[in-house]
Amino acid sequence: MRSVAPLLLLAAVAAAIVADAADDGEYAARRRAMIAEIKVDVVATAEMLKRESLDARVWAALERVPRHEFVPPEEQAVAYENRPVSIGHGQTISQPYIVAIMTDLLNLRAGARVLEVGTGSGYQAAVLAELGCRVFSIEIIEPLHAEARERLSRLGFDGIRLRHGDGYYGWKEEAPFDGILVTAAAGQIPPPLLVQLAPGGRMIIPVGSSFFVQDLVIVDKTKTGELRTRQVLPVSFVPLTGAH
Ligand code: SAM
Repeated sequence: MRSVAPLLLLAAVAAAIVADAADDGEYAARRRAMIAEIKVDVVATAEMLKRESLDARVWAALERVPRHEFVPPEEQAVAYENRPVSIGHGQTISQPYIVAIMTDLLNLRAGARVLEVGTGSGYQAAVLAELGCRVFSIEIIEPLHAEARERLSRLGFDGIRLRHGDGYYGWKEEAPFDGILVTAAAGQIPPPLLVQLAPGGRMIIPVGSSFFVQDLVIVDKTKTGELRTRQVLPVSFVPLTGAH
């Protein structure tokens, strides 16, 4: 008599594949809805952003990165809401609209070297990697750094370089950077990051009090090394911590 075990196994595998596909379809639909909401917010803030929409490559990156994989299981149901979500250790994965505009404001070309201060979940780093950037990211909370490392590797983002430490000091050995993205609020722009910004490069950083609203600031370094800043819009970030 033929064993039914292999048939049962095949049926179980097929059911799991169908369930996965249904999940992917569901999450893809939520990603598209999230992007539609961000587009509305971009139009509403167009004057401050000085743009009506974002680079098509940014939308494509947001559509590809599975944001639900970057939040704890108990937060997956709200992963695609247009708001920050807790990732533990008193930290958050930033609001999708903020991730989108900060990415876009960097104006990065594929192959650009970009430093992120505040890896958190690794989501922003993954979005930058989807743009074809060479991403370096620093996180000060060791368990978050370790979780992001495991997660990014499991999801195939092997090219992203991660470091545990105080991002206030940047990543001197890998400088200069064409782009620097700071995802925690600084009282002032960290001088080491200004030094590590390449001529022609751009930094996006929330500057201001850690307890209130901050200004999202663009810092451009000209080819001759001059610094020019512009305040974009009010934001609210967790503070840049550390003993600096
Ligand atoms: N970019 C993250 C993401 O995609 O999930 C979200 C960043 S969360 C809003 C800010 C992160 O900055 C937190 O994970 C926090 O621990 C980290 N952080 C705060 N101060 C830091 C510092 N001095 N150096 C590096 N990371 C820092």
